Amino acid sequence: MPVKSYAQKMIDSDPVFRDIADMKETVWINDKYLPFDMIDGVCQLVVNDEDIAETEARLRKFAPYIRKCFPETAADGGLIESPLEEINEMKKALQDKCGADIPGRLLLKMDSHLPIAGSVKARGGIYEVLKHAEDLALAEGMITEADNYERFADDDMKQFFGRYTVQVGSTGNLGLSIGIMSAFLGFKVKVHMSADAKQWKKEMLRSKGVEVIEYEDDYSKAVQEGRRLSDMDPMSYFVDDEYSVPLFLGYAVAAGRMVSQLEAKGIKVDEDHPMIVYIPCGVGGAPGGVCYGLKRVFGDNVHVFFVEPVLFPSVLIGCASDRYNDSNVSDFGISGMSHADGLACASPSGFVTRIDRNLISGDFTVADGRLYDYMRMLKESEDILIEPSSCAAFIGPCRLLEYEGTKKYLNDHELTAERLANATQICWATGGRLVPDEIWEQYINTHLEY
Ligand SMILES: *Cc1c(COP(=O)(O)O)cnc(C)c1O
Repeated sequence: MPVKSYAQKMIDSDPVFRDIADMKETVWINDKYLPFDMIDGVCQLVVNDEDIAETEARLRKFAPYIRKCFPETAADGGLIESPLEEINEMKKALQDKCGADIPGRLLLKMDSHLPIAGSVKARGGIYEVLKHAEDLALAEGMITEADNYERFADDDMKQFFGRYTVQVGSTGNLGLSIGIMSAFLGFKVKVHMSADAKQWKKEMLRSKGVEVIEYEDDYSKAVQEGRRLSDMDPMSYFVDDEYSVPLFLGYAVAAGRMVSQLEAKGIKVDEDHPMIVYIPCGVGGAPGGVCYGLKRVFGDNVHVFFVEPVLFPSVLIGCASDRYNDSNVSDFGISGMSHADGLACASPSGFVTRIDRNLISGDFTVADGRLYDYMRMLKESEDILIEPSSCAAFIGPCRLLEYEGTKKYLNDHELTAERLANATQICWATGGRLVPDEIWEQYINTHLEY
C-alpha cells in the first residue's frame, strides 16, 4: 500500500508516526489536549449535561422492562451496569512478568460482563435501540409518556415493532448488542458484519433470528453498505456507529454511575489523587463516549488514554492528522487482519474524533500477540476472563512510566511520583461475557509471536 503524502510528512517529522507506519507498539500524546474548562462550552454545544441526564432518565424509565425481560439485571434494578473491581493480583503479575512499574491502585471496569450483550456495546447499543423503540411507539400512539414501560414486553408491541427493521454495521459486538435487543423487542434485524468479525458472533445472532450479512471488506465498508441499504427502506432504521449521538450518550452515562462505585471503595479523585483510564478503541464510539462522560464528571483529574491494535490505529491517525474520518490506516501503508476483532476499524468516527480531539490524553498501540498473554495473566491471577480485544487496555499501566511520551505527559501535568502513588488506574474491560466455552479454549491456546 502506498503511503499518502500527508502521512509521509508525519512519518518524517515524528518517530511516533514512523512506529505507527512500521506497525510497532508506541504511544501518541495528544498535542491538542486542553484543560477541560477551556473547551467545556464548545463541547456542550454538541452534547450537554442535560442530554446525559435525559439519557440516564430514559434508561431508568426502561428499567422495569429490562428487569422483567432480563432477570440478570435485577441486582441493579434493571439498569445495565458492571462492577468495578480492584485487580491487585493482576497488578503484581504485570509487574513480575512484564517488568512493569505500576504506581497506585489498579482496577478493572468490567463492561466485559455487562448483562444482555456482554460488552461495552450494551451501553450505547441497547440505549439507542430502546430510544428508537420509544420514538416509534410514541409517534404511533402505542404508548404514552405516562405508561409503565413494562408494556414494551406485551405481544401487541412486539407485533407493532415487527413492521420495522433495524440495521447496523459491526465488527461483532455492536451487532450482538443491537441484534439481541432489537430482536427481543420484535424488530426485524439485519447486521452487516466485517471480515474481522468472529464466526461465533455471527452464529449467535443467527440463532436469535437476526439476518447476518457478511462482507469480505473491513468494517468501514460494512457500515457503508448497511447505511445505503437501510436508507433505501423507509421502514428501516440504521444505527450509525460513525455518527450516532444516542449511541454516544449511552456510553457517556457510565461515568456518573462510577462515582458511587468509587466512593464505595473509598477512592478519592482530585488533583492529588488522579485517575488514569485506559480504554480499548475501535471506531471510537464507545471509548469516545465513555471518555466524554468521564471528563464531564472528573474534569482535569481524569486522564484518558485509548488503546488500539498496531494494525488499526485509526482514531490515533484521525486525531493526530486532524483529518478525522477522512483518514484511513491504509494512508500509512498499514493493512492486515487483526485478532482484536472488536477494534478492527480502519477509519475512525468523524463525530467522536472531533468531539474528543482536545479531551484524550493519548493513544497507545498494542500487538495482537500481547492480548492473549494479558488474557491468560488475568485468568491466572484473578480468575477473570475477558476477550482478547478487551485486554488491549493493560498495555497502558505497563508502559505509562516507560515511554518518553508518557513521561513527558506526566511531567507536563504535574503528575508527580507522590501523586501517582495515590493514583487510581482503571483498565476498561470491554467484552467477554457471551464468549462460548469452546471459543475460550481456542483463545487460551492461541500464542502469537510479537
Ligand atoms: C467495540 C469494541 C470496542 C471499542 O469500541 P468502538 O466504539 O469501536 O471504538 C472495544 N472493545 C470491544 C471488545 C469492542 O467490541
